[in-house]
Amino acid sequence: MTVQNQNFDIVVVGAGPAGSVCAAQLQKYGHRVCVIDSQKFPREHIGESLSPGIWHHMQTLGLTEALQASKKFICQSIEIHWPGSKIQRRELAGKPGIIIKRSDFDYLLLNHAVAAGVQLKLEHRLLSQAKLTDYCWSLTVLHQSQTQQINCKWLIDASGRARACRGTVQKNTRKTLCLVSYLPFNENAVPFIKAFSHGWLWGMPLPDKRFNLMLFVDASYYQKHIATQQKNYFSRVVNDLLLDLAKTQPALKQLICNLQAIKKISVVDATSYYSTQAISDQLIMIGESALALDPLSSSGVEKALQTSISAAIVVNTLLKKPHNTQLAKDYYQQLITQSARQHQQWADDFYAQGAPYFQTGFWQRDANNRVKVKQLPKKSDNIDNIDKNRLEPERITANSLLNKSTKIRYIQTAALTGQFIEAVDAIQHPNFTQAFSFIADFAIASFLKKLPDQAFAAAQLYAQLSIHTVPDKAKYILNWLIQNELLVTVNETHAPKYQG
Ligand SMILES: Cc1cc2nc3c(=O)[nH]c(=O)nc-3n(C[C@H](O)[C@H](O)[C@H](O)COP(=O)(O)OP(=O)(O)OC[C@H]3O[C@@H](n4cnc5c(N)ncnc54)[C@H](O)[C@@H]3O)c2cc1C
Repeated sequence: MTVQNQNFDIVVVGAGPAGSVCAAQLQKYGHRVCVIDSQKFPREHIGESLSPGIWHHMQTLGLTEALQASKKFICQSIEIHWPGSKIQRRELAGKPGIIIKRSDFDYLLLNHAVAAGVQLKLEHRLLSQAKLTDYCWSLTVLHQSQTQQINCKWLIDASGRARACRGTVQKNTRKTLCLVSYLPFNENAVPFIKAFSHGWLWGMPLPDKRFNLMLFVDASYYQKHIATQQKNYFSRVVNDLLLDLAKTQPALKQLICNLQAIKKISVVDATSYYSTQAISDQLIMIGESALALDPLSSSGVEKALQTSISAAIVVNTLLKKPHNTQLAKDYYQQLITQSARQHQQWADDFYAQGAPYFQTGFWQRDANNRVKVKQLPKKSDNIDNIDKNRLEPERITANSLLNKSTKIRYIQTAALTGQFIEAVDAIQHPNFTQAFSFIADFAIASFLKKLPDQAFAAAQLYAQLSIHTVPDKAKYILNWLIQNELLVTVNETHAPKYQG
């Protein structure tokens, strides 16, 4: 029985980090937004280790203090254990990562959305969606055994791996599963990744005196060797791995004792993929519905926030500046595709490190699938993250003469500018697979385009950059340009005299 009919500009399906953040931003841009979620909140969710980039997004949202005040662990490094006692430390650059209960973190973001004026409908499950007209969706939603119709102009799929609105995805890896368990634990321990022949174990202490253990394996291996004896397999393999780990982290012995008492092991999909049609007419996929990263990097939530902040700007552009529709759509699809490729390259490099130790399919991943993508400057790079030790390239002095590389080409590309996607200057250069406009939020393409084609002393370029940005950032940008060969040193004997 249909009991209600409601109209919104935008409906967001899913109140996880992506849905809450996107909804809050769109409401702030002046749209009437409703978020629905099939569950009650606060709700438990996997993925408690958040990468350092989370701080930048929380700052954008004005939630830094709220996050600082939450119950959490600060995480400066992760230990990666390879066979033969080889331990690698992954130090987290700049700000630390955090470990936090997702029920707390996700609820913080959801409350932020509600405070912004977003309408919230919990325990409302999207059953289906249909287009009433070219510009209007009709959603059928189930709430307490009754269906409701909700109408909206834009539909945002933030339903995570459920991908409630469907659409096609490209898988980046073979199907991977994760066996998850939580054990009581009241000691200190460093989060770890431990490789074994058929996968890897990820472990971390949580702020509520529990320890999260996640065992990642190929789905085909799971079906053949684990499915019928899940608990036994988990206890046996994890027991052996923990015995080894306890040699350097004795506190982990407590987990070994608790392994026998495990009550529940959940099996969840952990395959990485991306949506090949992340945006279409009046429908956009955000967060894990658009892009699922390999959990190795602990950056799923950070990426979910990035896609949702960008998606809010894309949808705002489409609603308020329809002449930029194609630009905004291309921008978003490229963000998803490029992020997936860059991340996959990073993950492939990790698996390649395990390949010499283990001859199994899990570690011997197809090298031909590797896509080499040179790292682009991040628009969101924060001055706090700049490595001050790399401010002075060795061979450059204040008097070194520099010229713009003749290999630079200028084009127009789409970029986030405030609340809209606009066309901006961008640089193409053979060192990069993709055009780019910004370095650390600085509009480098426009700067270089306006710079006359003549040689400048490094000190003069630094002074020019310092007019537009703070000195540390000016130094960073100058060095980045030199290191990436966008500025090249001029043979002094042939250099024209600077006339400035
Ligand atoms: C094994 C594993 C480990 C991970 N570990 C980490 C980690 O350590 N760190 C990290 O950053 N990331 C991790 N991730 C990824 C991380 O969990 C996700 O990136 C993140 O939760 C994505 O947020 P989201 O808002 O897109 O989706 P979600 O947080 O999944 O939220 C989706 C919401 O949609 C709702 N929903 C679904 N279907 C419907 C429907 N039909 N109608 C209404 N509502 C619906 C759900 O109830 C849910 O609340 C891990 C992922 C896996 C699989």
